[in-house]
Amino acid sequence: MSDRNDELFDRARAVIPGGVNSPVRAYGSVGGAPRFLASAQGAYVTDAADTTYVDLVASWGPALLGHAHPGVVGAVQDAASRGLSFGAPTEAEIELAALIAERVRVGAAAPVERVRLVSTGTEATMTAIRLARGYTGRDLLVKFSGHYHGHSDGLLAAAGSGVATLALPGSAGVPAPIAAQTLVIDYNDLDQVREVFSVHGDRIAAVIVEAAAANMGVVAPLPGFNAALADIAHAHGALLILDEVLTGFRVHPAGYWGLQQEAGERYTPDLFTFGKVVGGGMPLAALGGRADVMDALAPTGPVYQAGTLSGNPLSVAAGIATLRLATPAVYARVDAAASTVAAALHDALENAGVVHSVPRAGSLFGVAFAAEAPRSYAEATAQEAWRYPAFFHAMLDAGVSLPPSVYEAWFLTAAHDEEALAQVLAALPAAARAAAAA
Ligand code: PMP
Repeated sequence: MSDRNDELFDRARAVIPGGVNSPVRAYGSVGGAPRFLASAQGAYVTDAADTTYVDLVASWGPALLGHAHPGVVGAVQDAASRGLSFGAPTEAEIELAALIAERVRVGAAAPVERVRLVSTGTEATMTAIRLARGYTGRDLLVKFSGHYHGHSDGLLAAAGSGVATLALPGSAGVPAPIAAQTLVIDYNDLDQVREVFSVHGDRIAAVIVEAAAANMGVVAPLPGFNAALADIAHAHGALLILDEVLTGFRVHPAGYWGLQQEAGERYTPDLFTFGKVVGGGMPLAALGGRADVMDALAPTGPVYQAGTLSGNPLSVAAGIATLRLATPAVYARVDAAASTVAAALHDALENAGVVHSVPRAGSLFGVAFAAEAPRSYAEATAQEAWRYPAFFHAMLDAGVSLPPSVYEAWFLTAAHDEEALAQVLAALPAAARAAAAA
């Protein structure tokens, strides 16, 4: 435990609620003072006490190339020298929008015809939902339990009691009538999808789904699930919003959708949301999709959305540089690093006699203290989550920074070389024993 981090945490709590600007950073579920980071380079982060860790958080996903990649930092510095924000269109925004559209393409399937740039994933999903409602003239939204799409009111809805009941607020401050516009059902359960559509089908504007769930731990969609969602939604005149904020441009050049297309699971979402990697570590996110739907956005259409800093030149420069540098070789490296760590994680827990699984979706993986990889929120939360704090702190003590919650994915980057991976592998056996003893 580092005194400097403790001291900063005390100071932070006096001026910032809980000492952090986003809740999970507070180490709430693992205990202790969060590490206040001073710098990051490649696969490593360094805290305020000058301790360096191998980082498996990667800023919660964006740092696909590793932290502070010179090609990205240089692009941002160049852009900064030309001005920080204009509030007017720029040529670079066209380039980034076109890059996104070009990448989300497999064979003849090119479902992203128009792109709008925003600043956060929350804005992207909030806008996609408003757009789906405006386009269909319907109000209801279907979402899955345990899926996170940002913190806008209608998305902080918790499941009501029955399958076809309307949801309750999942946060203080969310009006019940707004939460009631969201129908929350279990993930990977097509019977519930069919039932909710059979009851409310003509009032449902859209289904929103994480392309692969990664905010309740990693829970991949069962084979055929995403494609069936598209079919069912479309049969009822509703849209499918594929949330690729976390998976987009991280697991494959064309996102999780691209991975699924290549595996033969063909389907066409109407709208996509992107964030994290697409901004290369700067505040940038996007929504994209069918031209006729996207053109319902202002100024061409009646659905309003705007942003003073939307398409910010520094963020756009970081996004373009990141996507240009994210070559197939980068994805191959990240996949290989993920396989190495996932296999070692399994071996360490197995040897320590800890009941576990290592759920995986493309290069995303994590740990679950349950014998089978969870398929739903109920299964994810039934695991022995209380084993994680001891595991997490043993890794941290050995110089490896994991996400401070068992319900988060571990993120690797193209900068995790042999040396960084060796440090992670060396730390795992003792952490597994700590989990066993918890
Ligand atoms: N959708 C998904 C799938 C996410 O993982 C997140 C953030 N973790 C969001 C939306 C919200 O993005 P942001 O935090 O940028 O608002």
